[in-house]
Amino acid sequence: MTAVETTQRSTRKSRRRPGKPSAVDARERRLFKSLDLDNDGLVHLSDVEAVLKEAGLAGPEGKFGESLVELNEPAAEPEPQDISLSPETFFQATRRHILLLERVLQGRLVVPDFAEFSNRIGDLFDEVKENRDGETADYIPQLDLAEPEADRFGLALCTIDGQQAAYGDSETFFTVQSTCKPVQYCLALEEHGAEVVHRHVGHEPSGASFNELALSKTNLPHNPLINAGAIMCSSLVGLTMRGAAAESPDPRGWKGRRFDYVVDRWTALAGGERPRFSTPVYLSERETADRNYALAYFMRESGAFPEGADLEDVLEFYFQCCSVELNAEMMSVVAATLANGGICPLTGERVLATETVQRCLSLMSTCGMYDYSGEFAFHVGLPAKSGVSGAIMVVIPNVMGFCTYSPRLDALGNSVRGIEFCRRLVAAFNFHQFDNLTGASAKADPRISRAEQQARRVNEMIWAASKGDLGAIQELLLTGSSLVSADYDLRTPLHLAAAEGRSEVVRFIIAHASQDATVSLSPRDRWGGTPINDARANGHADIATMLKEAGAKAGRNRAGLAPAETGGAEAGEAGKAAELIWAASTGDLTEIRRLIAQGVPLNTADYDRRTPLHLAAAEGQADVVAYLLRHGADADCRDRWSTTPLDEARRNGHDGIAALLESGREEDAAQKAAA
Ligand code: GLN
Repeated sequence: MTAVETTQRSTRKSRRRPGKPSAVDARERRLFKSLDLDNDGLVHLSDVEAVLKEAGLAGPEGKFGESLVELNEPAAEPEPQDISLSPETFFQATRRHILLLERVLQGRLVVPDFAEFSNRIGDLFDEVKENRDGETADYIPQLDLAEPEADRFGLALCTIDGQQAAYGDSETFFTVQSTCKPVQYCLALEEHGAEVVHRHVGHEPSGASFNELALSKTNLPHNPLINAGAIMCSSLVGLTMRGAAAESPDPRGWKGRRFDYVVDRWTALAGGERPRFSTPVYLSERETADRNYALAYFMRESGAFPEGADLEDVLEFYFQCCSVELNAEMMSVVAATLANGGICPLTGERVLATETVQRCLSLMSTCGMYDYSGEFAFHVGLPAKSGVSGAIMVVIPNVMGFCTYSPRLDALGNSVRGIEFCRRLVAAFNFHQFDNLTGASAKADPRISRAEQQARRVNEMIWAASKGDLGAIQELLLTGSSLVSADYDLRTPLHLAAAEGRSEVVRFIIAHASQDATVSLSPRDRWGGTPINDARANGHADIATMLKEAGAKAGRNRAGLAPAETGGAEAGEAGKAAELIWAASTGDLTEIRRLIAQGVPLNTADYDRRTPLHLAAAEGQADVVAYLLRHGADADCRDRWSTTPLDEARRNGHDGIAALLESGREEDAAQKAAA
């Protein structure tokens, strides 16, 4: 047997690229600008670090590990200090991952609000930790742990963008046991192709326990993810190597190289950190392996093995592969590589072909959890694989992978806490593969940012009402939006339908309100106006009458309606405009920065021609007002009622903000005069 290296995470050295920094282009400038909070042409390293940390990308093993070391170099001086970076220095160090960086800054990673998501996962972890049910495996004596080891609980996750989070005993090493089965299957597929592999192993769930002494109707192991199937796949891994060795004998021997190859593949799947190996567990399993021997003899009797397979050798190789050790963090990266179609999210290396991964995930979703597989598919709906050491690796295809480690098992051999975590996870988030993604469920969708969810749920409905698109309104109602939803100014679909003279929509909402007591016909907006006020002010007397007859009340009238073309609003992507305005109204600078990095124009306006600056001023968000002004927001924008952001600040008594806006105006005028 070959010894496996147990090297710790390698500390990376920064490599400063020699030569003059190359020019920064317009696309990069836009990204830079979003980070440049004072608009002085420099960004603070601490802000860059905060953004990466919030995104879950600040780990030393991640893609930005080297960049951060390089950027931090000058700080290693006697006094650590916050470093200011010019665009050239900043991009010199980060450009090797420019596309990922762009998506970080634009908030377009697969889990955009990662900090919030990982906190919620932390809450689930704490809840599940309370559960001390189950027993450790005892048929392999070395796995029968005593307390406190038996009560260990680790959890880690990694997204397809390499965002990572870890909880509890996530760095505790455990033997992979049955979680090596999908890997053995993938390696067999890569070496021989699916056609050959499936001459020796089936695709059907066995419906029996993992080491059941049974073969399928065709006298083959049911699938690669139970013991018989994994022993069979092990007999296929490295066969080519053996053939080659026969012709030109390598002094190292082919068995050693075969195991090295398996460990290499695990290393690549896990993003570069080498697994360890447990000799005690290997020996313990080998000494108590009657059942696995029985299975192998049974398969040999039915002629299931490939030609020349040596039973003794195959079993020992299988036990070795079960005794490879990873921790939850590494295993979550393996799962993420599978979620990402075979490309490791941390290194960008293609480790497995997409077809291989697709086949493996299909079987994991039907056969990965022993005789609990059907129930797991029903309740959790995710490809997963468990092992008797207490590990479960779970894949959320195209999103993330995670791993739980907790040694106490249920009667079927699955980790009790692991299963409970999975069930809680899919109750909280729409990750079950048959969850509906239209939004019509109470589950959260971490793939969509907070701002986007608000904009979708609320502003789409209001905009559709303002345009008279009754079909869209009906569809939105079916997918969970509501006619009651009000925006940052408490404007509702009915306000806008009335303001724009959309009688059909108004009639529809009136009919709806007669059946649904939560839908009011007289909702009041920020200024106390109801839909009747909107109808009247915009000359839609018929609508005002219709509303009145249905029992609606008038609220406060506002003077000074502006003609539609007033205001310096730039056309932008409508949905994005709403996101920016929501973010401005709640003071969410992170989101504002992201939208600016996406190139959303600052002077974008909604169906009432309200702009981000209006809302920041109305809500007293001084930081946001300052940021928007510095980045070129127009302080003279007028909304539907001719109101400017300055009027908003004054009306709401935000004197400091009013002063800011006034000085912004003067600067503007001075600049214009100078030009
Ligand atoms: N090494 C173990 C065995 O073959 C793996 C089984 C498991 O994790 N379910 O018995």
